[in-house]
Amino acid sequence: KKPVIAIDGYSSTGKSSISKVIADQLGLIHMDTGALYRGITWYALQHCRNENGEINLKALFSSLDQIKLEFKNEEDTLVLFLNNTDISKEIRTHEVSDNVSVVAKQKEVRDFLLQSQRSLAEKGGVIMDGRDIGTVVLPNADYKFFLTASIDERTNRRFLELKGMGIDADKEQVKQNLIDRDKIDSEREIAPLKQAEDAIVIDNSELTKEETIKLMLSYIRK
Ligand code: C5P
Repeated sequence: KKPVIAIDGYSSTGKSSISKVIADQLGLIHMDTGALYRGITWYALQHCRNENGEINLKALFSSLDQIKLEFKNEEDTLVLFLNNTDISKEIRTHEVSDNVSVVAKQKEVRDFLLQSQRSLAEKGGVIMDGRDIGTVVLPNADYKFFLTASIDERTNRRFLELKGMGIDADKEQVKQNLIDRDKIDSEREIAPLKQAEDAIVIDNSELTKEETIKLMLSYIRK
């Protein structure tokens, strides 16, 4: 039976890009759960705002049943569709990054996404990355990893990732966003970002993506 693998950790530690490679190598389905929270945030920014421009959470909660999020594999990359529209680029914008953690700490939002995450893993053969996968979503995962790295290294990685997507970024702004999100994500009441007790912790500040993958595979293949 193929394994169920949970990967959690701080923002921009490489969770998603690493999960994608491991999924390809082991023939697993990959789910980037952060993209789901970003997708809901994008929907809220489009459809659920107060007069002052801020997200109206109540309006979002009552619209959740109109949100259909799906991943499709296109040309070897995972593409997120919101109600049949590709929003892969939109979910990486600064406005989404600045609002996602407040949306993600809401019970209504987390409950809405929990079932689809769990049902994907029922048959095995899944690698899922996020903040609460090993602790809440898949507590019985076969392997759990928790990734961390220095804030400057993570800032550089996110900066380069955004640049690669053609999104202008300021390093200080990127760094502040990572700090703010990690704080909100760690301090929230429901499913906070934290290490599962049985997680393998990897600080990859000094490791390349390939070295991190190799290290993780050495645990999985043991
Ligand atoms: O992984 P990514 O950085 O794209 O996640 C964006 C945000 O989504 C996180 O900062 C967090 O607020 C939220 N998130 C979460 N639980 C997860 C995955 C992401 O709360 N499992």
